[in-house]
Amino acid sequence: MSTPTDTQTFMQMEEAHTSGVYPKRPLTVVRGEGAYLWDESGRRYIDCVGGQGSANFGHAHPAIVAAIQQQAATLMTAPEIFYNDKRALLLDRLTSLANMPRAYLCNSGAEAVEAALKFAILATKRHEIIATNRGFHGRTMGALSATWEPKYREPFQPLIPGFKHVQYNDLAAMDAAITDQTAGVIVEIVQGEGGVRPGDADYLRGVQALCHERGAMFIVDEVQTGFGRTGKLFAHQHYDLQPDLMSIAKSMAGGLPMGACLIGSRVPALQAQTHGSTFGGNPLACAAALAALDVMVNDDLPGRAAALGGWLLERFENLPKTKVREVRGLGLIIGIELRSKVSPVLKTLQERGVLALPAGMNVLRLLPPLVIERDALDEAATIIEDVINGLPELSS
Ligand code: PMP
Repeated sequence: MSTPTDTQTFMQMEEAHTSGVYPKRPLTVVRGEGAYLWDESGRRYIDCVGGQGSANFGHAHPAIVAAIQQQAATLMTAPEIFYNDKRALLLDRLTSLANMPRAYLCNSGAEAVEAALKFAILATKRHEIIATNRGFHGRTMGALSATWEPKYREPFQPLIPGFKHVQYNDLAAMDAAITDQTAGVIVEIVQGEGGVRPGDADYLRGVQALCHERGAMFIVDEVQTGFGRTGKLFAHQHYDLQPDLMSIAKSMAGGLPMGACLIGSRVPALQAQTHGSTFGGNPLACAAALAALDVMVNDDLPGRAAALGGWLLERFENLPKTKVREVRGLGLIIGIELRSKVSPVLKTLQERGVLALPAGMNVLRLLPPLVIERDALDEAATIIEDVINGLPELSS
């Protein structure tokens, strides 16, 4: 064992002992505030990674920090065999905001998806699940079975039987795929990991209608699009959809690990012991989530996302077509599809003090905290434009 003193040491220590499953960047982040992160040398970065969607409230939000501190000193853990004051308040608030009567609480996005898949099977007594090309739903075996990316799936084949993938935004393909054995259809409203690809309103409404017609559950995965990201509290609210099951996670508890599967009225009552989780619905996460929902509503973070995202999308439309194939997004989930690989762009952006994400090989994805000040976003956008303008011209 050694006592780390500088970047090199922290990186070396992690490298020596980390699982190896993550592609790492040479940056040690040690502190955050709002939309800024700092490394251990004190250098500041504008955060457009946003904890991969778990930092919609920014870092160290005072109201959320206070709620966590208070609850940590009161009661952190209480399995769901007991009732709890904070959990009761959260369930009441969340189900009313989502307009879905019940919720199963868990600890991550993949768990929320697992729950949705199991509940669809329990609700219909069928075992077939339809998912979409480029869809991402997590990496546990059930969620991975619904995830499309071949390189994530291949080492674990055969995975769970009964999963089928069809082209996204293609209603005829969905119509042909849903059978009388389909338990559920799982879709994202904007495909996040798959390249920031928004679903068409008619498509999403059509999928919901097909589910109703054929007795299947309409499962909406809002793990990335939920909690204000797209300009509404939940992205399906843009299109007046009513999911039967909805997975959420990421920013749900203001940055603490938490997930949930919201359960609609087409799902019959679930029997005891059919699912569960030790940490699910723990009072600490529930208290954080309650504080986070207060901030979301009182500070109108969905409204901020809509306004700032609209402004940014319009601005990025002016990026040169010789370097950028397409700009896509909804609210503050923005994808810039480059004509070249994204990894060198991410590296240069980091050198220039902006942290951003990829979505596949060519898409630069931005998920800034929704609390980001317009000045900080403007500064980040200027650097992004400058870096993209400096790319070689490929074709027009
Ligand atoms: N669903 C979607 C749409 C996601 O974007 C993600 C994570 N990127 C997940 C599920 C899995 O969430 P987690 O990493 O918390 O398991």
